[in-house]
Amino acid sequence: MKEILVTGGAGYIGSHVVKMLAERGYHPIVFDSLENGFAEFVRGHELVQGNIGDYALLADIFRKRNIACVMNFASYIAVGESVQLPLKYYANNVANTFELFRAMLDSGVKRFIFSSTAAVYGYPEEVPIRENAKLSPINPYGRTKLMIEQALQDIDAASGMKFIALRYFNAAGADPGGNIGESHTPETHLIPLILRSILEDEYTITVFGTDYRTHDGTCIRDYIHVNDLADAHILALETLVSKGESAVYNLGNGRGFTVREVIDAVKRVTGKNPKVKEGPRRPGDPDVLVASSEEAMAELGWKPQMAELETIVETAWRWERQRKRKGW
Ligand code: UDP
Repeated sequence: MKEILVTGGAGYIGSHVVKMLAERGYHPIVFDSLENGFAEFVRGHELVQGNIGDYALLADIFRKRNIACVMNFASYIAVGESVQLPLKYYANNVANTFELFRAMLDSGVKRFIFSSTAAVYGYPEEVPIRENAKLSPINPYGRTKLMIEQALQDIDAASGMKFIALRYFNAAGADPGGNIGESHTPETHLIPLILRSILEDEYTITVFGTDYRTHDGTCIRDYIHVNDLADAHILALETLVSKGESAVYNLGNGRGFTVREVIDAVKRVTGKNPKVKEGPRRPGDPDVLVASSEEAMAELGWKPQMAELETIVETAWRWERQRKRKGW
């Protein structure tokens, strides 16, 4: 029951889950194309280089090993790029993921934990957002995630493959050890970009829109520490094993911060002044995205341990300096 296949396990969130799985006595097997992942992030763990669209390679692993559950982090995540290159997103996040499901079903692997996203809600009608809110993604990225959630329900009904889909709000921060963290090319996320405006002479962070309907005019988001997300995956795995029921949960802190408040937190934590300019809105950004995670707390027994924005920023800062030193 201990072998867990972690697809996309060499990426940002996946590598934190791999580390925590090992610390809690599981045997993670990392499966990653290394297109966006880093072998260094999973040093000391078993790594198979491959693509989730490779049915034969996956079926071979499932035949030879005793995989209790698959956790899938192997997807493209940039909203803007998904608008420009929708087929890239549908091909990997949907079509290739179906190959993974086919290999699982043909080999009798029937537990799956899925990285879903707050983007499935689009422009929410109410905040905090509950799991039963209207699902209405506004970009191809969000649609690919919703398609997989829907396919999982059909596959469960037909084949009894049980799943837990975890809808992340804004994943942020890094393992306090400072050896793994966020490293996307290009980076599009707020906290690493604010930190880069401190570390890199030529970079200035742009605040995307100052006329939103919020108290300071900038967007409100719910930032959740990556290790709290990792913890939720392990609780989801254990719940899937003990209860055997499919479910969907939001993962956030239930508290939102504006872009300006995040910049202020960076100033407090680092003691330095980020270089900031104001710009127009980024298309597709809702005013406010804040999670209700009451269901995950009640049913998984999840409780975020690093909920303070300062803690999130502090760990991201430690990582960002390490990343710069190592040239990642
Ligand atoms: N944001 C910003 N400047 C940037 C990157 C992001 O003002 O260079 C804002 C963005 O508009 C959103 C928030 O920061 O309101 C979080 O964006 P991010 O891309 O980190 O995550 P998302 O909410 O898109 O998942």
